[in-house]
Amino acid sequence: MSYSGPPSDPYGPSDPYRPRRSRLRRPLTVALAALVPGALLGWLAYEALGGTGSGGDGGPGGARAGAGVSSAPASGPGTAAAGDDRPGTLSAPPSSAAAPLTGKVVVIDPGHNPANARHTGEIGRQVDIGTNRKECDTTGTATNAGYSEAEFTLDVAHRLRTLLQRQGATVKLTQDGDRPFGPCVDERARIGNTAHADAVVSIHADGSAAGNRGFHVILPAAVHAGAADTRAVAGPSKDLGKLIASDFARSTGTSASNYIGDGTGLVTRRDLGGLNLSTVPKVFIECGNMRDSKDAALLTSGVWRQKAAQGMSEGIVSFLHGS
Ligand code: ZN
Repeated sequence: MSYSGPPSDPYGPSDPYRPRRSRLRRPLTVALAALVPGALLGWLAYEALGGTGSGGDGGPGGARAGAGVSSAPASGPGTAAAGDDRPGTLSAPPSSAAAPLTGKVVVIDPGHNPANARHTGEIGRQVDIGTNRKECDTTGTATNAGYSEAEFTLDVAHRLRTLLQRQGATVKLTQDGDRPFGPCVDERARIGNTAHADAVVSIHADGSAAGNRGFHVILPAAVHAGAADTRAVAGPSKDLGKLIASDFARSTGTSASNYIGDGTGLVTRRDLGGLNLSTVPKVFIECGNMRDSKDAALLTSGVWRQKAAQGMSEGIVSFLHGS
């Protein structure tokens, strides 16, 4: 199946969100950001002291002023328009003011695994999810053209990780294409629990009928059965899910699901091991329907995936600010 092909470059040669490779660009941009206001202040000081106003170059005063404002470029939430964080525009490394998630732990769970299709025996074994037993993991879906859900989830996870790290968060992925299959859903939950994550998001895309469109966020029901006890985290997870749904809709400009959730973009379930076994706030997001051609056109676009990651990031930031 298409899942087993070699991983392609998810960004494409002209994708403006391709991660930067230049180590030079960031320091240069920071230096310019520091020097420009410095030069301006220096020129103003020169003017105030009776200078002619021509050719003011900042001088030592300007340099001091520049040092004082060098942290001015903000990268906090809400300062970047949705989709407007091309490499180079958010240039400053996180400072204390611009890193609101310092000390916070976020676990990103990229749904499925690109290699699951080659390990159907292993992923088919049953694991205990509290309410019942279920397959360890599944292969996931794909677009009609063969772009797999697992490839999609990993790409969005990488984009989201970058955005959250810029906010100062400690970010952990449950898998990074670095294991032969899985992990199983119970282990996926355990990774978030063990990390004492402040928030966990499990990224997916749906495989529904053509014509079914839009995203939905899946919230854990308050479950208390066997090893599952989500009673303490169902409420916070709902808060997290609502914020992610709202920011995802705004950032991507896409609508909530037209086939599940009654237009709210929110669905509560008690049959997902990854949610049932979580002891920390956690939601799933189904970003769209891979089997619908219009949704597939979005899901296969790197520009759209960046907006999707941006929306998730903003929702997580909002949640962690309020917690
Ligand atoms: Zn999935």
